[in-house]
Amino acid sequence: MKRTKNTRISLTFLSLILFSALILLIPFKTKASGVTVYNGIDYSSVYDFDYYVSRYPDIAYYFGNDPQGALAHFMTFGISEGRQGKETTEIQTPAAGQGPLSGFTVILDAGHGGRDPGCVRNGVYEKNVNLSIVMKTKAMLEAQGATVLLTRPDDTFVSLEYRYCFENIHPEAVFVSIHCNALAGNSSISGMSAYCYSPGNEKSFDLAACVYSGALYATGAKDRGIKTLSDIKVVYYSTIPSVLIETGYLSSSAEFPLLTSPEYQDIIASGITNGILTYRILNAS
Ligand SMILES: [Zn+2]
Repeated sequence: MKRTKNTRISLTFLSLILFSALILLIPFKTKASGVTVYNGIDYSSVYDFDYYVSRYPDIAYYFGNDPQGALAHFMTFGISEGRQGKETTEIQTPAAGQGPLSGFTVILDAGHGGRDPGCVRNGVYEKNVNLSIVMKTKAMLEAQGATVLLTRPDDTFVSLEYRYCFENIHPEAVFVSIHCNALAGNSSISGMSAYCYSPGNEKSFDLAACVYSGALYATGAKDRGIKTLSDIKVVYYSTIPSVLIETGYLSSSAEFPLLTSPEYQDIIASGITNGILTYRILNAS
């Protein structure tokens, strides 16, 4: 009798373990089937490889065996095309005046301006390239429903103090500063970088990761990294999520013709816009 009872208890216990193991295996299997981490950020709250591939035949065709490529596509094109990355994600193609960024405010900051030209190469002033990228980004963000504020809408001088005060009187916004880089006596250094060290708002790291990843993937520019220097005033003194992006080198013989072309500026603007869309989705509450 005693032995039988023990055997019954053991069998019940064993079947319970097996049942629990089966339940546990289900999420493990799903997790292993797709990549959700891109540039160190986990997008699993908005993205699922299996869902994205099963829903869109072209994605299945191009990225069916490339989970990282599928995720990169989702971030760079999918979101702005109104595609869903996960069943629970509610993204739709925006109607006029509406969209995934409606109710979201972005401050765009065109670096330099007026008497401050920024870097100058071949008669091209950095301040004008920055403003051109800003105006293109503004149009794309507004098409997604965002409210866009500019620290300068034209070629006027604006101090750094004005810029970070402008940020800090808009606590509802995020801030993206656009610049071009240059290195004296060197035409071979090229690539993109970003600055995001603001002790007043730790969300700056998230914003930088999203915006930088978006711009980098869209352009295919050389990745020079996200940096944390304390002497970038418009970021350091900001109390809202803020990032400064160096979109490329005007001193680079390869990047100069790109940075000064409207087509490449469009690509940078679309990458920044997609980065902001990603940030918005990840921070939606
Ligand atoms: Zn600059």
